[in-house]
Amino acid sequence: MITTLPKTSRQASTALIPSSRHLLDVDSLSSDQIQDLVDTAREFRDLRASTRYKSDILRGTSIYTLFFENSTRTRVSFEHAGKALGADVINISAATSSVNKGESLLNTALTLDSMGVDALVIRHAHSGASHFVSRHVNATVINAGDGAHAHPTQALLDVMTLEAEIGNIRGAKLAMIGDILYSRVARSDIIAFRKMGVEISIAAPPTLLPNGWTAGTNSLNVPDSEVTVHESVEDAVSDADAIMCLRLQLERQTAGLLPDVNEYSRVWGINNQRLALAKPDAPVMHPGPMNEGLEISTEVAHGGRSLVTTQVQNGVAMRMAVLEHFCAAIG
Ligand code: ASP
Repeated sequence: MITTLPKTSRQASTALIPSSRHLLDVDSLSSDQIQDLVDTAREFRDLRASTRYKSDILRGTSIYTLFFENSTRTRVSFEHAGKALGADVINISAATSSVNKGESLLNTALTLDSMGVDALVIRHAHSGASHFVSRHVNATVINAGDGAHAHPTQALLDVMTLEAEIGNIRGAKLAMIGDILYSRVARSDIIAFRKMGVEISIAAPPTLLPNGWTAGTNSLNVPDSEVTVHESVEDAVSDADAIMCLRLQLERQTAGLLPDVNEYSRVWGINNQRLALAKPDAPVMHPGPMNEGLEISTEVAHGGRSLVTTQVQNGVAMRMAVLEHFCAAIG
C-alpha cells in the first residue's frame, strides 16, 4: 500500500527554518536547527519504515541534481528524497552535459536557473563552488559536497545516526580516524558534532592533518570546533563511544603523502583489535565509499557494530528533511 499524504496533512516545521534559503555548509546552522532537522528526518525515517511513504509536500517543486564528481549514495538519496516528497527531480551529470563542451559552472547553473528550477543540488570538485553558484541564481542551492570543504547533509545524517544509536550524544567521545585534511566529511562532521556537544579525538598521519595541527588541542577556523589530536589510533579510540573512519581521499592527495597504502592500513586502519579498545558496543561509522581492507577491515565494515548501512538509510530521510526545510518557502 502506498500512503500519499495531502500537502496539508504533514505541516513542514517552520519554527527553526534556517535563515538562509541555501544549505551550503553546517557552519551557519545552530544546534537547535541541526536538532530540528534530525527530528524531522527521524519522523521521515519512521514513516518510510512503516509504509511506502509518498507525500506531495513538494508537489510542483523542481529539483535538479548537478554532479561534477562521482557519487552513488548522495545523488541517489537526493533523487529518492525529492521523489518521496512529490517533487520533480531531474539528474544532470556533468559527463553527459554541455560541461563536456566547455561550458562553465556558472553558465551551466544560469542555464538551469533560467528554466525555472526551484532547487539545485550541486557537487563539485572545487571548494566554494556551491557558495559561488548561490550568489548568482534564484534557485535554492544545496551543497552535496564541494572539494575538501563541506558536505553538510552527510554531517547531518551522521549526527542523526549517532544520536539514534547511542541516545544523548552531548559529552560522548567520537574517535575520528584517517584523512582529515582532504575530507569534506571530516570538516563538516567536526563542526556539526561539536555544535551538538560531542568530544572529538582524532588520529591521522601528520601529512593528512590540517596545517599546524599536532598532538593536543586543535581547531578549525570556526568557533567551538576544538578537537584533540592523538599520536596513535589506539589512544584516539580508547574508551570512545563511537568511531568514524574516513576514506583516504587519494583523488585529492598530492603524491608522497603516504609511504604506501599497506603501511597506512597497518598503522591507521580500524580493525577488530582496535575496535576492542573503544567502549563495549561502540558503533563504527564510515561515510562511504569504503576502501575495505585499507582504512577499515572487512570484519569491522560488515560486522555487528557497523552503522554503514544505517547511515545510507538515514541519508534518504535526512535529505527529505533538508529538502522539506529549504524548499518550504517555494511555491
Ligand atoms: N561520499 C563522501 C564524499 O563525497 C565521502 C567520501 O567520498 O569519502 O565526500
